[in-house]
Amino acid sequence: MALLKPKYYVSSFEHMSIERLKQQGIKLLLCDIDNTLVSYDEKHPSPSVIAFIDRVKSSGIEVALCSNATKERATRFSKDLNVSTTYYFSMKPLPKNFIQAMKKHNLKANQVAIIGDQMFTDILGGNLAGLYTILTAPIAVKDRGVTKINRFFENIVYKVLEHKGDFKRGEFDD
Ligand SMILES: [Mg+2]
Repeated sequence: MALLKPKYYVSSFEHMSIERLKQQGIKLLLCDIDNTLVSYDEKHPSPSVIAFIDRVKSSGIEVALCSNATKERATRFSKDLNVSTTYYFSMKPLPKNFIQAMKKHNLKANQVAIIGDQMFTDILGGNLAGLYTILTAPIAVKDRGVTKINRFFENIVYKVLEHKGDFKRGEFDD
């Protein structure tokens, strides 16, 4: 269960403290797209997403997109956001892309953070690889396909973690 628990829990990417990441020694932020930055039906990032990515980059932390979305969708976002590295169809929670990202940027796992909205892909995968994991509340209530199934199990995990007094849904760190 500890592998499903994020190290940092925020209500939205906009409330993620870049300062906190700097203090943790983070050099690279891997960013999920769907339901983390935008909802599934948005084709392009909003101005607030663009501003967020710019803020992270200008703080000296590099950004890469890491999404289970299609190549077309993920590369469109990387262009719009001016992000050089994009991993699409990443098959999170498998660590393949996390290991690639560490190699490419010559970083250790504890210098890499991932922000995402799903415990069973972003957080589990990140924790397995030893990354600094950031869970954000999902943008849209509506989910698709396998995410619906993941959410079912997520609800159980939230209940167990809450029961243990470890973690409570909606009680954000920032
Ligand atoms: Mg997502």
